[in-house]
Amino acid sequence: MLKVDFDCDVIIVGAGLSGLACADLLQAAGLKIIVLEASEQIGGRICSIADQSLSHYRADLGPTWIWPKYQPAIEPWLKRLKIQTFDQYETGDAILDLQADGPVHRRHLPGQDGIARISGGPQSLIDKLSLKLEAGAIRTAHRVTKIEPDETGLKLTALVKDPNKQLSLRARRVVVSAPLRIARQNIDWSEQLSVDVLEKMNDTPTWMAKQAKAVAIYDQAFWRQAGLSGRVASQAGPLTEIHDHCSTDGSSAALFGFIGWTHQIRRSREHELKNLIKDQLVRCFGDQAGRYSALHIKDWAASNTICSKQDLTSPPAHPEIISDRLRASHFDGRLFFCVSETSTVSPGLIEGAFTAAQSTATRLIAEF
Ligand SMILES: Cc1cc2nc3c(=O)[nH]c(=O)nc-3n(C[C@H](O)[C@H](O)[C@H](O)COP(=O)(O)OP(=O)(O)OC[C@H]3O[C@@H](n4cnc5c(N)ncnc54)[C@H](O)[C@@H]3O)c2cc1C
Repeated sequence: MLKVDFDCDVIIVGAGLSGLACADLLQAAGLKIIVLEASEQIGGRICSIADQSLSHYRADLGPTWIWPKYQPAIEPWLKRLKIQTFDQYETGDAILDLQADGPVHRRHLPGQDGIARISGGPQSLIDKLSLKLEAGAIRTAHRVTKIEPDETGLKLTALVKDPNKQLSLRARRVVVSAPLRIARQNIDWSEQLSVDVLEKMNDTPTWMAKQAKAVAIYDQAFWRQAGLSGRVASQAGPLTEIHDHCSTDGSSAALFGFIGWTHQIRRSREHELKNLIKDQLVRCFGDQAGRYSALHIKDWAASNTICSKQDLTSPPAHPEIISDRLRASHFDGRLFFCVSETSTVSPGLIEGAFTAAQSTATRLIAEF
């Protein structure tokens, strides 16, 4: 006998930007959706520091930049979500930091063409998308562990954190919006996905998955007053580059940097990392830079829902357009992959997440 007792039309696995944008489009087309998210919070690689005293996020620990001039797929989403952008602050001189025990050098560096930030931070994309979904559509702390086809749809098994239990759900279609290596590694495909698809998932690096970022929060942007842009290019580290990270209205001041140490070094020297970052900030910007109100570090390599074992061991590589096999549907048209890395436009980036969501939703809507 055919089973027809579906819990919804489409289950989306992963509440990052791709999953939520896809959910928004599917819901707007009248489909009933459920989004299952392994973590306790939504957003995936988008993660910002909240501050109750501010109307916006204080700083980004995941992505920061978009390039609207070169990324046309972003504009319609900003309009849809009523979100503005502003230019990355680059006025003034940069600092060249060549040796940990030597002087730094003040230099004019050319600006980065078209680089922009999202007002309120990229987390505002996540907040606004999630608010558009029906109450109860997003279920956090639901880690999908198994996906298997049955007679008419797909059955998913998820581990629910609180209360600790295993849950089974059925849907007509499933969209996997988790990083492909994570989906390969952590989901049991009951040997039904073909070997070449599984291999291709394994071969797809997750952009920025093993990076780590540091953000120093200040009362004021003292570097701007000194004619500095906040930008540092460093060979001395631990931060390889530093950038101004103040809010558009000036109500919060911050600098952020990418940590240049490998994840192994970050782990073995964790106890000294903050002090060395402080030394570097003081070396580059003077004593005031050591008087931050907070120093946040986010190590993405430690996230087991983003960074896979393969990401940890493979050399860093810029995202490439991956095989069409991963953009095709599977299980007789019932399963789709929709994460930023599957996009043919800006794979791995915010624009890639929006583009993947748009093309996946368009195909699904056409079928229902
Ligand atoms: C440090 C850093 C800096 C970056 N800088 C930029 C930038 O400046 N500009 C830019 O355009 N892009 C940048 N990126 C990339 C950008 O963040 C990503 O392209 C985008 O956020 C990807 O969104 P996504 O939804 O496709 O995937 P993800 O954000 O990875 O979302 C996947 C979701 O799936 C969930 N999940 C995983 N496994 C399961 C499971 N089994 N069950 C349920 N849920 C699961 C995860 O928890 C996660 O929430 C940066 C990324 C990082 C980490």
